[in-house]
Amino acid sequence: MKKHNFSAGPCILPQEVLQEASQAILNFDDLDLSLIEISHRSKNFVAVMDEAVALVKELLEVPSGYSVLFLQGGASLQFVMVAFNLMKNEGGKAAYTNTGTWAANAITEAKRLGEVLVVGSSEEDNYNHIPKGYTIPSNVDYFHCTSNNTIFGTQMKEFPKTDGTLMVCDMSSDIFSRKINVSDFDLIYAGAQKNMGPAGATLVIVKDEILGKTGRNIPAYLNYATHIKKESMFNTPPVFPVYGSMLTLRWLKGIGGIEVIEKVNQAKADLIYNEIDRNSKFVGTAAKEDRSNMNACFLPVDGADTAKFDEMWKAAGVSGINGHRSVGGYRASMYNALPLESVQVLVEVMQAFEKL
Ligand SMILES: *Cc1c(COP(=O)(O)O)cnc(C)c1O
Repeated sequence: MKKHNFSAGPCILPQEVLQEASQAILNFDDLDLSLIEISHRSKNFVAVMDEAVALVKELLEVPSGYSVLFLQGGASLQFVMVAFNLMKNEGGKAAYTNTGTWAANAITEAKRLGEVLVVGSSEEDNYNHIPKGYTIPSNVDYFHCTSNNTIFGTQMKEFPKTDGTLMVCDMSSDIFSRKINVSDFDLIYAGAQKNMGPAGATLVIVKDEILGKTGRNIPAYLNYATHIKKESMFNTPPVFPVYGSMLTLRWLKGIGGIEVIEKVNQAKADLIYNEIDRNSKFVGTAAKEDRSNMNACFLPVDGADTAKFDEMWKAAGVSGINGHRSVGGYRASMYNALPLESVQVLVEVMQAFEKL
């Protein structure tokens, strides 16, 4: 029987996507060839890329003036590319919030190219909340934030107004999980493997007019303009991850799109957080108002028999809820493809554990 997969990433994908993708590995489009052994310039694969881009635009209602790219290198390469493309060559300066491990890594990369002002940080509290009430200086090249902190289970419920400063966001772990207003952002990026598809593809949504203004000599691969011009085919694209992402987005559209999945995600989050708050054996780690609807982190109370709990959830077919080492305890990741029933199963195990 299929596990209840709470993995933080790479994570659960819809079963029908896995089925169709495995079929395409053997025989794609009735070509009697595999998806991964045909030219990326064949009309069959170009159609996949085109549909993937079109689905992103449709599902997120991307306005005109933005380009949608499928790149490689993960969100981690975007930490570098964002700085290369947006930080002025002379006197470059950017503002970042430091809300978790990934945000801190983004800051490290940006510092190689210019000055970084950390305008809000929750580092001293082991990233248990989202900093608020900070001001974004107007003399910076851009502002960067992380919408969902996968490791610490916090999520920005609203985004600051930047007053003309470019707004950049790492949405790796909550893209397509809730409605966002793309026009509030100048650049959004996300590694595929948390909510969009198999690892290996990275989604970038960038406002065209912000590019080419830094005076910096940017290596071709790192330059967004290169990929826009070549429609994500500057070099061989990650054909399978792009195909898997396309199928997952097709699935999302088929079930009713963002509006529908946002409600399901809220129901899943309500279910687990109500149990965490009610259950005397567990305590949540994130500030309540900042709790992530994607990753719920919780610790056992002192003296709880965690060996027993671990045995119980494994026996129930639950997988992947061990917390990240920097928080400890447990983390239930509830990405789009995780059914509500899986959360129900976990909650029932938590209840049975409390009664022991
Ligand atoms: C997982 C994650 C990353 C790192 O993604 P890679 O694709 O592995 O580089 C960056 N940011 C956030 C918010 C993440 O969850």
